[in-house]
Amino acid sequence: MNRVRLLVFNAALGVLDYRVPEGMTVEPGSVVVGPLGPRQVLGIVWEPERLTAQEVPEAKLRPLLEVLPVPPLPARLRRLIEWTADYYCAQLSSVARMALGSSAALRGGGTTTEYRLTGEEPARLTPQRAAALDALQGEQASIRELAELASVSEGVLRGMVGAGLLEPVTVDLDRPYPPARPDFDQPKLSEGQRKAADTFVDAVKARKFAPFLLDGVTGSGKTETYFEAVAEAIREGRQILVLLPEIALTENFLRRFEQRFGVSPVQWHSSLKASERRRAWRAIALGDAQVVVGARSALFLPYPKLGLIVVDEAHEVSFKQDDGVRYNARDVAVIRAKFEQIPVILASATPALESMQLAEAGVYRKIELPDRFGGATLPQINILDLRKEPPERGRWLAPRLVDEMKERLARGEQSLLFLNRRGYAPLTLCRNCGYRFQCPNCTAWLVEHRFSQRLACHHCGHETPVPEACPDCGTADCLVACGPGVERIADEVAEILPEARTALVTSDTMNNPEAIAEFVAMAEGRAIDVIIGTQLVTKGYHFPELTLVGVVDADLGLEGGDLRAAERTYQQVAQVAGRAGRGEKPGEVLIQTRHPEASVIAALAAGDRDAFYAAETEARRDAGAPPFGRWAAIIVSSEDLSEAQSAARAIGGTAPDHPDMLVLGPAPAPLSLLRGRHRFRLLINARRSAELQRYLREWLDPLEFPRGVRVHIDIDPYSFV
Ligand code: ADP
Ligand code: ZN
Repeated sequence: MNRVRLLVFNAALGVLDYRVPEGMTVEPGSVVVGPLGPRQVLGIVWEPERLTAQEVPEAKLRPLLEVLPVPPLPARLRRLIEWTADYYCAQLSSVARMALGSSAALRGGGTTTEYRLTGEEPARLTPQRAAALDALQGEQASIRELAELASVSEGVLRGMVGAGLLEPVTVDLDRPYPPARPDFDQPKLSEGQRKAADTFVDAVKARKFAPFLLDGVTGSGKTETYFEAVAEAIREGRQILVLLPEIALTENFLRRFEQRFGVSPVQWHSSLKASERRRAWRAIALGDAQVVVGARSALFLPYPKLGLIVVDEAHEVSFKQDDGVRYNARDVAVIRAKFEQIPVILASATPALESMQLAEAGVYRKIELPDRFGGATLPQINILDLRKEPPERGRWLAPRLVDEMKERLARGEQSLLFLNRRGYAPLTLCRNCGYRFQCPNCTAWLVEHRFSQRLACHHCGHETPVPEACPDCGTADCLVACGPGVERIADEVAEILPEARTALVTSDTMNNPEAIAEFVAMAEGRAIDVIIGTQLVTKGYHFPELTLVGVVDADLGLEGGDLRAAERTYQQVAQVAGRAGRGEKPGEVLIQTRHPEASVIAALAAGDRDAFYAAETEARRDAGAPPFGRWAAIIVSSEDLSEAQSAARAIGGTAPDHPDMLVLGPAPAPLSLLRGRHRFRLLINARRSAELQRYLREWLDPLEFPRGVRVHIDIDPYSFV
């Protein structure tokens, strides 16, 4: 092969042809570097018949510069990349980039240098050096990462290296991970678990595409069960990928994995430090990493011998990526399993309606675990009608819930309060003039965070200190907090149960593995009486002494009313309820609501999951909504309002007529201003059988927009704001 076609990592260029110089060998999937004008460009060698490029005469082809020392991307992965780009209307190069993960890792193994404290403590220190000494205890990372950790400049740290306070450490990027031991600590499975596990093990042995929906109630031992399939894949020398929806859940998973297999799995997520990222990527690409646990981005890595994929908490919306390539990792995981010809297990206690439907249709095989392990019973769920039993003025917890919490405290048991709202209060206003604090960049109120004494935007991160006086009318001490966030609930608990030991669990407090590990250890060690948390506490945790769950506001998720509002409320409440009564003592759940008649609340109270899914399925069928019809969103944005508006109108005005497509909009997005960009949305509702992507491409590809305009397509959207 003399002439090669490259998929290059430059979206504007896309595909380019090059010449392979004498003495160089490449094959499809090879990662190479080619010249581009005076610069260089990274690319992947692709089958020429699968990509169209501009025809360049033989004589004009420029020679490749270098083949990078990594295994070629496997053909099955290249097909997955093509499928993903095609289905989600994304750039091929943007999808392919997710396979490479770490550009440094492409440069080969060898060593890298990290730094750590020497232990030297001079008598006199600049304040910055003192702060760095404090912040970097026990840390080892690159200068850049350490600078970020310690919030000082890299210059300060280099100075500290010179002064002998920090020392270099050589890190071997290819040091192997200790092997997982499939038989390290095998649990005795219950009969139901055994049957499910055997089915999975057989599927791993068969080495064929087999999608499973593992539908098991909370506490049924789904993890133990799919671990048997993981063990079998390890025995057969295959690689295993376990996808988790959030890094916060990893800590818990790692511990259980270690108990079962004797070692930690290989981790992949955005907060890995650079050397770990390089090491993990290389081990994955070389086939040495056995079990990889990661966030959705782990899905596109170049595993050469994948034998099993598990998607845990598969119903979670965070598997849907809402920027860059807008894909759903749960769905793409199934497609990857198909290309790889391997089993994939979607595990959940509250499966997505789409997954249930596919199981019903026989596309997925449903494996059920209907009972909790060890005879634990599912908790009793009771409704607390806030209209009949209102909390005291200025409070959010009704007397009955407070009484139940007091009882738990007296018995030495734990309570959990769930409210899916970070911060102290979602809205702050001036008592005198009614001024409301709004984000300057977004259509959103600023949320008060009392611990950090700031008002923050949860969309763009804009922050400002809480002022002493109203910025509009100038009155001092006139600001009122409206509505509760978890911080405010924590304050209330401190007032009504002053002797209770509480923990606040939100992404603000649990933003690193140490904090999460400490929380878990304290909760398990019964050093916490009341846990107050956002959706972070709804999943994964197993605290045997936790016998009461209070849902502070079950109506919250139903506001806004998008397609999945009821489903999401059902899932969140059922999941958080699943934290109660996991040990020997039975659990109770109290749901505070103003709408006990809403079908989702009634279904939760009755414990009638089937009725909920049936009603929801019918509603979706009537609306032609997924999974019965298909949706796509087009989001148009610009910093300039009129530019965004005319672009949106131009798109709306050119929508081709098609009997299978219904085009709604354009309309200003609910979040009409986001990070300083004005936004408009269109929604396309297509028949299941229609060729939605082709329709969109034929419609949008010919259109041209001013440079400041961005047009995004979101296939199977989860967000409607
Ligand atoms: P799920 O993921 O279905 O909510 P888990 O896998 O977390 O359930 O299991 C719930 C608890 O029961 C865990 O503490 C787990 O270790 C324990 N468990 C489940 N199955 C077994 C088993 N066969 N032997 C011992 N412990 C088990
Ligand atoms: Zn904002």
